[in-house]
Amino acid sequence: MKKHVDFLIIGTGIAGLSYALKVASHGSVCIITKSKPDESSTALAQGGIATVMDALDSHEDHIRDTLIAGDGLCDEEVVRFTINESNDRIKELIEQGAVFDKKQSGEFDLGREGGHSAHRILHYKDQTGAEIERALLKAVKEHPAIELLENYFAVDIITQHHLGVEVTRRTPDIKCFGAYVLNPHTNKIDTILAKSTMLATGGNGNVYNTTTNPVVATGDGVAMVYRAKGQVKNMEFIQFHPTGLYNPSERPCFLISEAVRGAGAKLCTIKGDYFMGRYDKRLELAPRDVVARAVDSEMKITGDDHVYLDCRPISKDEIFNHFPNIYAKCLSIGVDITKDLLPVVPVAHYSCGGIVVDSNACTSIQNLYASGECSCTGLHGANRLASNSLLEALVFSHRAAQHAIAHLSEAEFCENVPDWDDEGMVLNEEMILITQSLKEVQSIMSNYVGIVRSNLRLKRAWDRLDIIYKETEDLYHKSVHSVKLAELRNLINIGYLIIKMSMERKENCGLYYNLDNIKK
Ligand SMILES: Cc1cc2nc3c(=O)[nH]c(=O)nc-3n(C[C@H](O)[C@H](O)[C@H](O)COP(=O)(O)OP(=O)(O)OC[C@H]3O[C@@H](n4cnc5c(N)ncnc54)[C@H](O)[C@@H]3O)c2cc1C
Repeated sequence: MKKHVDFLIIGTGIAGLSYALKVASHGSVCIITKSKPDESSTALAQGGIATVMDALDSHEDHIRDTLIAGDGLCDEEVVRFTINESNDRIKELIEQGAVFDKKQSGEFDLGREGGHSAHRILHYKDQTGAEIERALLKAVKEHPAIELLENYFAVDIITQHHLGVEVTRRTPDIKCFGAYVLNPHTNKIDTILAKSTMLATGGNGNVYNTTTNPVVATGDGVAMVYRAKGQVKNMEFIQFHPTGLYNPSERPCFLISEAVRGAGAKLCTIKGDYFMGRYDKRLELAPRDVVARAVDSEMKITGDDHVYLDCRPISKDEIFNHFPNIYAKCLSIGVDITKDLLPVVPVAHYSCGGIVVDSNACTSIQNLYASGECSCTGLHGANRLASNSLLEALVFSHRAAQHAIAHLSEAEFCENVPDWDDEGMVLNEEMILITQSLKEVQSIMSNYVGIVRSNLRLKRAWDRLDIIYKETEDLYHKSVHSVKLAELRNLINIGYLIIKMSMERKENCGLYYNLDNIKK
């Protein structure tokens, strides 16, 4: 089946939904998601959105904190406009129906998180993301001009490569004509032709064994752009959250928000040794990479599977009012955080790198935009400051919408795109080939390409991943399309990019930490 839309959007998190609402009055809009619309990292965000609202705070301070976290790799111009535009974007989000906690005085109740020099985290209890997702999704569903397709999986973006034209990484004018999308009703691949396409496909945490990311976070957008010969960068900068709830059978791993440490919780070993003082004078409020490495180091020294987060310094009132979701979740596995120590481990949480975009969210491929976690804007540099990512998505989706609307009249549909060809393909009947390979990829990445890397570990990961890559490509080119196989293929691509870019980075900075770089 062939379909024509002015604006095709892939992804229903904050980046895709906020963009859809902005372009909807300027043309036809189709937004697709590979799962249920609210299965996204956005819906899981707990801490909140960073924005300057306190009289004692300033944009300059927020800019400085962001630049410090990014460790010299942020694009300062991007940091400046993102933060300077933050209040306008948040105002719109509130007008679109999102609710944030207020104090009795009527002012917003701003939280504080690691790396921030002031209280500037706007939140809705500990379910900020769910509240934002609820409000945006409701507005999208009620909008008459937006078509929302659930369980539609984008397989590849369409470029001139699909018209038989050779495309390389040096081709200057690669163009996107839309996307090939797996239709869940027919199990066939549809061709969606679009004048402009937005990738808002989120992160890639599932390349690791343990992650806070939802199961849909398989790096599809980044892999699609890389296959289409577009630019991707900074993939080596993976943020590991220091405090995932230690509950080995659970995927995704439940996150214990940084705001809990902001409220006074302390980290200790199983023997009760409060260790952060040995690592950083900012203690538990040091940036995430410092805290995650400290936890990783203590676990390696003690041989324990986890450390503890001691939430008892936080008053019961604050726990019940500010962290009801975290409290209930921990209680459900038998831990009362007002009384008991909570077992936690570092987990893959956020990808700072991704599809390279300019200040209007334009990728290196014409008519293709990227926003949110799949993109690399220059805001985060080598490390993301907590609660800056929801903000980044809002600012870049807004800029992308303005750009796409302004250029819509110049864009045309490409009518000679061929249908997807799966002639001669067979149904792969052995799921084990996919599930086992996925486990192997995750274990290679967790064992060799985790918080602390070395040249030898990276080489081992490279060699092992290469075997799985060849087997999977072979299987993929013989099989009728399946979502699980496509996701595996994408994750292998993501693993390859993380390893390759790690090998190319010769100095430690931000989240990147290679033992061989210290020895120099
Ligand atoms: C547990 C957790 C807590 C967090 N807390 C915070 C916080 O407090 N503050 C903050 O700023 N950030 C936080 N983050 C990070 C932030 O939530 C994400 O970076 C942000 O929500 C990403 O939004 P997005 O729109 O880019 O992607 P997502 O919200 O992940 O949405 C991606 C969408 O793309 C769809 N998709 C993906 N691939 C395909 C495909 N091939 N075909 C069709 N659809 C596809 C998915 O189904 C999904 O709808 C947190 C993240 C997690 C996981």
